[in-house]
Amino acid sequence: MKLLILSILLSFNLVHVPYKHKKGIDLIYYRNIASKFHLKYRRVGHNLYIGKHVKVTPTGKVYFRGRRITFLILNGYTDANNWAYLLSKIEHNRKYYWESNKKGFIVSQYPPSVRLKKVIKHRDKVTYVFEHNVDIRPILKKSGRELILFFPRGFIEAYPNLFSSKLVSGMSFQHTISGFKLKLRLARNVAYASSKSLRTLSLTLIKRRGRDTVRRSFREIIVIDPGHGGKDPGAIGYHGIKEKDITLAIAKEVKRIAERRLGVKVVLTRNRDVFIPLWERSKIANRLGAMLFISIHCNYSRNRYARGLETYFLSNARTKWERAVAALENSSVKYEIGYKKQYEMVKKILGDMAQNRYLKESQILAQYVHESILSKTGAYNRGIKQAGFYVLLFTHTPSILVEAGFITDRREARKLRTRWYIRRIAEGIVDGISLYINKYASRAY
Ligand SMILES: [Zn+2]
Repeated sequence: MKLLILSILLSFNLVHVPYKHKKGIDLIYYRNIASKFHLKYRRVGHNLYIGKHVKVTPTGKVYFRGRRITFLILNGYTDANNWAYLLSKIEHNRKYYWESNKKGFIVSQYPPSVRLKKVIKHRDKVTYVFEHNVDIRPILKKSGRELILFFPRGFIEAYPNLFSSKLVSGMSFQHTISGFKLKLRLARNVAYASSKSLRTLSLTLIKRRGRDTVRRSFREIIVIDPGHGGKDPGAIGYHGIKEKDITLAIAKEVKRIAERRLGVKVVLTRNRDVFIPLWERSKIANRLGAMLFISIHCNYSRNRYARGLETYFLSNARTKWERAVAALENSSVKYEIGYKKQYEMVKKILGDMAQNRYLKESQILAQYVHESILSKTGAYNRGIKQAGFYVLLFTHTPSILVEAGFITDRREARKLRTRWYIRRIAEGIVDGISLYINKYASRAY
């Protein structure tokens, strides 16, 4: 595979154009570009036109088809990487990259394998979201104050200035045939955080104020809710196995893996065998401004052979089964005081659930988590379902409920008692969270 890719790269044309090397930048004059790529140029008034669609104003501002591009062409000169970007725009079926070792333009007929999807700038914070082909595994390293991001065999359609920020004090933007490398020298007191999924990488730079306050403020909080606990054992299954113990074991494992892998902070609604009212659980998520909420449960059925995974998001139950599961999980309120009043309230609220702000996100979160658990555990797929769970009802954030398996099924109950199976489920949940974070990266920061 590697050989094949290399030979494709070697078969790229390398087009040499005279350049000047100044302060680490290869500068090219517009007439050299025009003559090499057969572009006409002319002056109209004080403006310079290159090809049909590029306009350069006397102050060096650049427009392509009337749209401003945020680098300058000064006295006819600009960075070779900027020319590569413009040439790719001009000839939309070919892509150009400046090879910084061999000093020539790589000309490719393939779409770029890396895209800078978004740059989100806030005061004291900037996030770059990259999208890349699945076969590319980006590498992020820090060395002193320099952050090095390398996409092996990757080529990006972008130009250096897109990465400029007051949080960056120096930069190098390089394509070589081995891939795309971006070096960002962080300004003083700037920290970074990153997250990855199969196709995306997001990188956030943030200005520290006090060491501790910043760390806390940019770590996203996820609330994991181990179902039941204390006087409420939840379902009791094969060989007296208790739902409350399994859910706690899974939740602890999710916390361990997610904090290590995703750099998020995971808060559990309980971390020991204690009773917490359903209402209190959503309050915890709201108080912390959690990014998402996942309640973990195990299923129960009178049918001893019922097995598999179900993931729920909050909405009106559509089937008898969905209603039954919700009724069972909601029965925790019988341990709470004044639940009749609350029950009435819930019924009323569920009545106008159509406007639920988090319905779409919750549905997507359910899908990612569900599919990731299936792929980690190979569990039987009972599907993504919807029902009215009290515990999800008042969380002001995307929320789902995972029924991790049937403790009434002999084989599943046995697995749920093993550490490796608990870990598989937890890994699946974390994978799902990671996919979700990447989809909503812009909102996450
Ligand atoms: Zn339960």
